[in-house]
Amino acid sequence: MDEAQFQKQRDVMVRSQIEARGIQDERVLAAMRTVPRHCFLPADLVEEAYEDHPLGIGCRQTISQPFMVALMTQLLELRPEDRVLEIGTGSGYQSAILSELVNEVITIERHAELALQAQQRLHDLGFLNVQVHVGDGTLGWEDAAPYDAIIVTAASPAIPKALKKQLGQQGRLICPTGDRKAQQLTRIIRCGNAFEQHQSINCVFVPLIGEEGW
Ligand code: SAM
Repeated sequence: MDEAQFQKQRDVMVRSQIEARGIQDERVLAAMRTVPRHCFLPADLVEEAYEDHPLGIGCRQTISQPFMVALMTQLLELRPEDRVLEIGTGSGYQSAILSELVNEVITIERHAELALQAQQRLHDLGFLNVQVHVGDGTLGWEDAAPYDAIIVTAASPAIPKALKKQLGQQGRLICPTGDRKAQQLTRIIRCGNAFEQHQSINCVFVPLIGEEGW
């Protein structure tokens, strides 16, 4: 398949899977139309890049369903000047979407192999405002805190305390919370030392493994 055909598939993906399910943030839609999702997948799965489901990326981990990426990104209410922390780099796809929308992205992955691949890929594709680190993301990344937004792309029993601490004023954090089999997307917004909490849709993510996860 050539790039024009992939672009066509991306346009269809955005129309039929994302806009059709109510995502309206024009900046998010534009990023989803732009980032070449097929470049973030193992070679044998490239043909499935624009289908409506998660896919395996090695180390028993997944790249999330495109709609879930779009919804979580929209819920972050990103502004161009924001600095964002992502926990769970995986393939680097969500980091690339964030990279299109904000000034600076810090992303942490516990599997060194995935982190290295993602770092190389993001660099090669020109997403140069993303810093990839290997570590336990449940502890956040203190060096660059506070963050305007934090996204956790793995399931946690509760929102890790360290991440709440590293969220700036009016900062938005999104994290799937629940048990190991099923979760709900939980969004908090920091107001002083209090947090407004909202629940969004049901979801199923791979577990967040670490000191403040499982
Ligand atoms: N955002 C990714 C993408 O676009 O491909 C998908 C992430 S996948 C659903 C969840 C990722 O979280 C996995 O790569 C997993 O290894 C990682 N993970 C789990 N626990 C973690 C932790 N404590 N710190 C950092 N990464 C973690």
